Amino acid sequence: MSIEGDALKRFRQIKGLLKEESLRPHGDHLDFGPFLKRIGDSMPAIHPDLLELDLKKIRSTMGEVLKILWEDPGVRNQQGAIEGLMGEDEVLKGYIRALLKRDFDRLKGLINPSDPSEETVNIFIYLITQSLRPTLEVIKSGLADHLLNWEGNRCPICGYPPGLATLREEGSLSLYCSLCWQVWDYRRLRCPFCSNEDPSTLGYFQVEGEPGYRVYYCDMCHGYIKTLDMREAFPISDPEEESLKTLALDILATRKGYSPKTWESL
Ligand SMILES: [Zn+2]
Ligand SMILES: [Zn+2]
Repeated sequence: MSIEGDALKRFRQIKGLLKEESLRPHGDHLDFGPFLKRIGDSMPAIHPDLLELDLKKIRSTMGEVLKILWEDPGVRNQQGAIEGLMGEDEVLKGYIRALLKRDFDRLKGLINPSDPSEETVNIFIYLITQSLRPTLEVIKSGLADHLLNWEGNRCPICGYPPGLATLREEGSLSLYCSLCWQVWDYRRLRCPFCSNEDPSTLGYFQVEGEPGYRVYYCDMCHGYIKTLDMREAFPISDPEEESLKTLALDILATRKGYSPKTWESL
């Protein structure tokens, strides 16, 4: 529906790169004890202020992601501005902690003193997000066996709201994190943002000619989530790619007055 050609090629290249990076060891020893304790207390595993960041690894991933992004002439135009934002280690840490806290006002405030364009800010936030992914992947695989009882509407790993859902054969629902793409099960007929369960304020719409794609919305919080009905289509190759391919649904939902909730500050 939406992403295609060179943009899809670059997305897949970055995806491949991040997968390779996530297989390399994390520089500092990641202590899983605090993660497990937090999950046991029904809190997302990562506490943004306590996460040990391997900045050397993150910087090297940033460099590799940028090499791919520069192939896009629109991004290449902004090379100077983007490189100017990279900053010292403490600056980089500040960006990442603000991102993990979903404190987007602070994140933009940290970026803004150099007065870049909004497009530069968005590319830069994308860059930080992608460069953090290998670290998140290491944490996800280390905790995979400990998430079975998670019932929350925030990601058990990073605490972000879901960005996509799938409905499976037996009618159960899975949510995918909008930051780290961790998947977890969730109760159907409950809003994945505000936990509203009143059926008169929950619903979905579909798009003609796109069987299997639904948009579930909530009239209490005005959130929406794109949902792939696996009973009608697919299997999906990659949830993140599906999300990019279905941007037309986001436009439609936004026009109807709903918001994705994923990139709103807490
Ligand atoms: Zn997550
Ligand atoms: Zn809601």
